[in-house]
Parts: sequence; structure tokens; C-alpha cells
Amino acid sequence: MADPGMTIGGVPAEAKSTFGVIDPATAEVFAQAPDCTEEQLDLAMSTAQAAFREWRRDDERRRAALREAAASVQADTERIAALLTAEQGKPLDDARMEVMGAVYWLGYYADLDVPREVVQDDANGYAEVVRRPLGVVAAITPWNFPVALASWKIAPALRAGNTMVLKPSPYTPLATLALGEALARALPPGVLNVVSGRDPLGARMTSHPVPRKISFTGSTPTGKVIARTAADDLKRLTLELGGNDPAILLDDADPGRIADSLFWGAFANCGQICLAVKRVYAPRSIYADVVEALAEKARAVKVDAGTVEGARIGPINNRPQYDRVAGLVEDALGKGARAAAGGAPLDRPGYFYRPTVLADVSDGVAIVDEEQFGPALPVIAYGDVDEAIERANGTPYGLTASVWSADVDRARAVAADLDCGQVSINAHGAGVRPDLPFGGAKWSGVGVENGIWGLYGFTETQVLTVPPAA
Ligand code: NAD
Repeated sequence: MADPGMTIGGVPAEAKSTFGVIDPATAEVFAQAPDCTEEQLDLAMSTAQAAFREWRRDDERRRAALREAAASVQADTERIAALLTAEQGKPLDDARMEVMGAVYWLGYYADLDVPREVVQDDANGYAEVVRRPLGVVAAITPWNFPVALASWKIAPALRAGNTMVLKPSPYTPLATLALGEALARALPPGVLNVVSGRDPLGARMTSHPVPRKISFTGSTPTGKVIARTAADDLKRLTLELGGNDPAILLDDADPGRIADSLFWGAFANCGQICLAVKRVYAPRSIYADVVEALAEKARAVKVDAGTVEGARIGPINNRPQYDRVAGLVEDALGKGARAAAGGAPLDRPGYFYRPTVLADVSDGVAIVDEEQFGPALPVIAYGDVDEAIERANGTPYGLTASVWSADVDRARAVAADLDCGQVSINAHGAGVRPDLPFGGAKWSGVGVENGIWGLYGFTETQVLTVPPAA
């Protein structure tokens, strides 16, 4: 099947020039992706603007189109998943799950009953809060979950009546382009335009005069740049940014029982999840057992190319990220940390790094203090719980957290003191669902995605009043 291309105005857009896409399992270019020109971006924006006039009018039509869109993506699951594994590195089963997640999100927003908000309807008059679409949304996604995170934007934005120009990361353009092709079969021309290209394409999108809203998922430094750009003409913003998420274990947590769940909370998608566990705080009484239980998992897990049967962890997605993870682990080892598992790359081509559990490490070391976004997990010993809470909160980030205990009430009390957007008890990331708001505190973001709250983020309120009948 042909490489996927850009979709502008409902039809394939010609690739005037291309750039190479690297397979992280081999570190070699395996495909080319279109580099969107300025004229093509202008066309995508003006087409989206023109499509908005009709698209905003009929909610029942939007619901039907989103249902059809979900079916169209589902029909292309194998194609999209294969591209995702090839360019992102994740195991094929995980890639399939990600595509199915996008299908689920599209279906969820097709079925969502958006309530009418009538505040008054009586003899004294009528007052209603109306949620109006904004117009064209510029949507920009990162390389870790290109398909899922695109669907978090497409489904609520379109259901609310907006149109969109979407751009994936240049590391992972292909699955998103294929997603765009599948969606183009179900949506009216111009409602969703998918472009790809190397930066500064992202900056050209955010500074473009047409979009009324920027929906961005990516790193905190880029989010700050975008916020400054948006300020120029007060574009609306949703920013889903970085995290450095803590897991706090209480002294009654059973290391053997929680190890599997905790391990995958940290190492799924090769640790490249904004909300992955990035720091484990364990009380001294169970510290050694926690380290060993996690290390045992790390040593046993199969690390290989995403296309290899049974591989659970693939390579790191790209060279800069690989270098960063390797550098942070080396730095920690140089400062007295002990690698209970891993601690080095795998000796083979591609960006493979051994799942790494670091013991005898503490705050003040970069791998604890900074977002590292890879398959390495520091385990930090603490004395009393208040100290653990203070250290967990002691970063500029606040995306998610988890608390692990045999006593849910004790865990809830700790959860209440954590500065972040979601807390899970005895699980990590359990609140990532289409019906719950997802967003970060502090430097982890502005606004939320998902649920009715995510849809409201793609609207502006208008109050409609009618006087009482004379
Ligand atoms: P990144 O910020 O480097 O890039 C993200 C996207 O922004 C890419 O599409 C890129 O091309 C584009 N971009 C780069 N510079 C831009 C600019 N000046 N203006 C507009 N767009 C620009 O992030 P990344 O390395 O692709 O992704 C990893 C980061 O994403 C991590 O920090 C991770 O925590 C974060 N992330 C957050 C969430 C969340 O929901 N909070 C989810 C996934 C990933």
C-alpha cells in the first residue's frame, strides 16, 4: 500500500518535497513524509475556515459523521497500526490498542449528550448558556501516542462544531496521515486537514491568523513558546505538557502484589508517556523489597522491535531522546546511584535501552528532578509520609500521581495533598478515559482534554436571554 499523504480539503495533497522517517528499531530511514509548503498550509487553513460555515450548523450531522469516522478508522486499524509501530517503535499489539482507542474516543464523542444549559425558563423570562464553536483549531501532537492524542483533539473539537488543521510530530507523521485519510472518507471536505512537515511548520501554524484555538500536546518548553505566540492575538489555548509523576508507596503496600502494576505504570510505551511513573517514593521499611521486585520485572521483560512476537517494550523513539535518557542514567550512576536492573543500552542497532531501575538515588539528581521520558525509574527512600508528599510536590510539574496502600482511606488522605491533575490509588493513570477530564497542574498544562470538559474547551460561551412574554 502507498505511503500515506497529507489531506487538505478532503483530498490528497501533492508532496512538493519530503523528509525521511526513521524506524527506531533500526535507526534507518524507511519512508518519506510530505513537507507541507507555506501555500499548502494557507490552503489547509482557508479550507478549514470555509468548511466551518456549514459544519457548525447541524449537530446531528456531526454526530453521524463522527460515528462513520469511527467505523472508517476501525476498518484501517491494521494499516495505521503497522505504520505506528514502524515509526514509533511500540509493540504491534500496543499500536493496535492505540488505534482502537481512537475509534473509541470518536464513538464516545458521537454519542455524548451535550446538555442544554437553561438557567431560567419561567414567567420572568428565559436565560440559556450556549456553547459556540470557536472556528478553526490548530492541533499539534507529539511522537509518543500520535494516533490516540490526535483523537483526543479531533473528536471533541469536531463534535463541538469546529474544523481543524492537525500536524503530527516529524518523528511520527505517517500513522497520523493514514488516520487523516481514513477520516477523510467519512467527513465533509475541509473539516479535518492533516499536514506534516519539519519545524518550523508548528510555529507557522500557531502564528497563522486563521486558527482561533491552539490545542497542543508536547513538551513544557514548546508549550511556553506557544503560549507567548497565542498571546499576540489572544488565541484560545489548551496545553497538555510534560510530567514528572510520582508514585508514593505507603508502608502497608505489598511490594510483590503491586510490582506488576507499578512496573507497567512506569515502563509501558518504553516509559515515553507524559503520565508514566517517573519517581517511586518507598518507605525505608519496604525499600529493598520494592527495588528488587521492580528490578526482577525489568530483567524479565522482553525488549525487541515492535514487530517481533512477544516484545513488550520497543526502542526509544528517537536519537535525541535516547541520548537524553542515557545521559541522565550515567549522571545518576556517577553520583552514587546503583542500577538494580539495566543501566545501559542494548548492544544492537536501533535506539534500544535496557529497562533500568535505579536505587540509592534521591532528589537533587537530574533523573529525579527533571522529566526524563524514557525506560528508567529512580526509586527513592523516604522517612515519613509528609516528607514524601513534600518531595513528590517539589517539582514544577503536576500531571498525575499514584498512592499505593492496603488502606484506601490512608491513601486518599495522601492523594488530597498532591498537586496534580489526576491521582490514582493502587494503580497509575487509571483516570485516562474519554469521560474524565485530563490535564495538568503547574507546568504540566493549561486546560483539560476529554469528557464534556474537553469539549467545552473547544467552545466559547454565549448567554442568550429572552424577556418574559408581554
Ligand atoms: P515537543 O514539544 O518537542 O514537540 C511536540 C510537537 O510540537 C511536535 O509536533 C513538534 O513538531 C511541535 N513543535 C515544536 N516546536 C514548535 C513550536 N515552536 N511551535 C509549535 N509547534 C512546535 O514534544 P515531543 O518531544 O514531541 O513530545 C514529548 C513531550 O510531550 C514530553 O514532554 C511529554 O511529557 C509531552 N506529552 C504530554 C502529554 C500530555 O497529555 N500532558 C501527552 C504526551 C506527551
